[in-house]
Amino acid sequence: MREVMATTGPDFHKDDLATVAHEYSLKGIQSYDGMGVGAVVSFTKTRTNQSKHFAYAGTNMNLSGFQTKVHAEQNALQQALLDFEDDDLGVRVKMNKMVVAVTGDKDYLTCGHCLQITRSVCDYLGCSPRQVDYIAANHKGEDRDTFEFREEKLDDLLSTTYAEW
Ligand SMILES: [Zn+2]
Repeated sequence: MREVMATTGPDFHKDDLATVAHEYSLKGIQSYDGMGVGAVVSFTKTRTNQSKHFAYAGTNMNLSGFQTKVHAEQNALQQALLDFEDDDLGVRVKMNKMVVAVTGDKDYLTCGHCLQITRSVCDYLGCSPRQVDYIAANHKGEDRDTFEFREEKLDDLLSTTYAEW
């Protein structure tokens, strides 16, 4: 299992997810602009009336400019997909939250590429993007030891998935 957190209790609080996102923001490769990004995505799996919550994390690989970055959100989603089994898809897995934190003194802004991929994975799993919280966890406070959250529904940030017309 690749999850970084799992529980059969209440769903994860965004503060706990943000703490892991921050830890992962320090683990990536930031050879280009020095900005680390960590992302955590949480899911609920339901089997025979029992729900379990899982969270997966990713970090960015910021190698040599925008075109060759691997974004933390994409990395976290890939970790999750590698764990899912065929019979999880479509009926038992629900995406809940995507929480992202960055290093340094910048606030996080999501990119369109990650929104497309997150929404596409949501479609693939059969989840509603209206129920997915996309959350930026920005450091605040004198010692930058607390988080200020900006929360949007995935559906409000990107109202449809890329499609050929
Ligand atoms: Zn991105």
